[in-house]
Amino acid sequence: MTTFLIDGETALDAGALTETLPLPAQRRIRRVVLTHAHLDHVATLPFLVDNTYRRAAPLEVLAPAPVLTALRRHVFNDVIWPDFTRLPSRSRPAVRLRPVPAGRPFRAGGATFTAFPVNHIVPAYGYLISRPGRSVLFSGDTSETEELWEHARRARDLKAIFLEVSFSNAQREIARASCHLTPQQLPGELAKAPARVPVYLYHMKPPSLPRIRREVKALGQRSWKLLESERRFRF
Ligand SMILES: [Zn+2]
Ligand SMILES: [Zn+2]
Repeated sequence: MTTFLIDGETALDAGALTETLPLPAQRRIRRVVLTHAHLDHVATLPFLVDNTYRRAAPLEVLAPAPVLTALRRHVFNDVIWPDFTRLPSRSRPAVRLRPVPAGRPFRAGGATFTAFPVNHIVPAYGYLISRPGRSVLFSGDTSETEELWEHARRARDLKAIFLEVSFSNAQREIARASCHLTPQQLPGELAKAPARVPVYLYHMKPPSLPRIRREVKALGQRSWKLLESERRFRF
């Protein structure tokens, strides 16, 4: 259930925002940037809207257009959840969907985000998030990919890479079918990234976690670590 809280006001994905944050922290969130529309990345967005209803300004949801189209069609559709882009009124809605162009930087709070398309089973994007002198890369859900790494190599100030690994090596068929990575693909993927940048692996499917842990350890890269819940980083 992927969620990164960037600076208290901006979240990247909303898989677990209402599960992990107390109400006052939920109320501080002004915008959510989405990698894609899969449920493990948007599940708590409807509840965040509910919990912070009648906030002073609409909650902004930012992503490239295909992600927002899926969200409107399949979540905020007045069937699964009310269409909060029109409630309580069209002129002052609880949620504002803001499409962003892929490949071009946009501002979100105090940081600059750039979305890059990655290889997943639905339209999905990784993000380079930058402030002056420091950048961090999030892969989102992806199988082997290229464009994201091209931009990672150009970012001279990259401080960390957050890369998905979802299934163990024994599950490579399901990983391939669902466009995710396994540990055996990591050396090839990370060979495309700039060297000597710490790597945090995330998005491990819970039943695969013990095997993934062993398989990543066997790769012998001490700067590649499995991310744990509720870790905090300062870059
Ligand atoms: Zn996904
Ligand atoms: Zn996912």
